[in-house]
Amino acid sequence: MIKQLSFLLVCIVYSLTSLAAERGPALPDYSADQVTDGVYVIHGPLGEPSVENQGFMNNPAFIVTQSGVVVVDPGSSVQSGEMVLRQIRKVTDLPLVAVLNTHIHGDHWLGNQALLAAYPQVPIYGHPKMLERIEQGEGQEWIELLLRLTDNATAGTDIVAPNLQVDHADELTLAGLKFRFLYLPKAHSDTDLMIEVPAKKLVFLGDNAMMKRFGQMRHGTFKGNIAALDLAMQSHAELYVPGHGLTGGQEVPETYRAYLSILRSEVAKQLDEGLSDFEMKPLVVEALSAYSDWVDFDHLVGKHISQAFLEVEQEMF
Ligand SMILES: [Zn+2]
Repeated sequence: MIKQLSFLLVCIVYSLTSLAAERGPALPDYSADQVTDGVYVIHGPLGEPSVENQGFMNNPAFIVTQSGVVVVDPGSSVQSGEMVLRQIRKVTDLPLVAVLNTHIHGDHWLGNQALLAAYPQVPIYGHPKMLERIEQGEGQEWIELLLRLTDNATAGTDIVAPNLQVDHADELTLAGLKFRFLYLPKAHSDTDLMIEVPAKKLVFLGDNAMMKRFGQMRHGTFKGNIAALDLAMQSHAELYVPGHGLTGGQEVPETYRAYLSILRSEVAKQLDEGLSDFEMKPLVVEALSAYSDWVDFDHLVGKHISQAFLEVEQEMF
């Protein structure tokens, strides 16, 4: 009997341990920077998801009004969502009233899980195309990618998709504040919402702009990304929050736009000269030397040149 009991005990302890092992460790706290009255941005580390950053490298944000809190892009994992909630609690005890997701890339929205766990009724808004891509399996791809790149630090993260849809030119009043949504079909991806908060003279650009970092353009176009930034700048906001890198003024969309524009025009020029992708690379890299301090420039600029080559070539036929 004692033997059986101790075996049972070993089994219970073993299953509890393996349950615990299924969840990655908590993220350390990253401070929230107040960028204007009531608007806070947690500027994540630059770079790719890694063991070192536990997958956290985007810019979660929260807006606090007198009636509640709105979160934009709670990060890459359940651990990230929990960390965002901890930073909110340092500022206010008011409830979370809405979550906004800028686009399909999992480093921005997989933290939804923690927010919905804390506020089971909370509306989570995203673009219909984002929902379509999650249904097609892109959310699961992101979960697996993040586990691999972080050596399972994001373990325990599940897909919690937006439960409400918003599209171009939609307006919502959340926590007493007006939010206006901007969308172009092909920008950084094909799911990108930009979010204007007129009362704060601020636009969340999502990954349509980054500071000192290259965007992943798998489902986007450089041409559309430039058009999206032009659209954002028509708002005449004073503050722009990029998807990665520091918040700032007009220079945030302008810098990323200038990079995209030089990339495209140099590629088009060399294509006109009859150069192949391979032949034009050193020339385009030279034209982009002003951006050589961007994260992993040597590796990633080549990727962008190849993608821009395909894009411009396709437009010619
Ligand atoms: Zn992205």
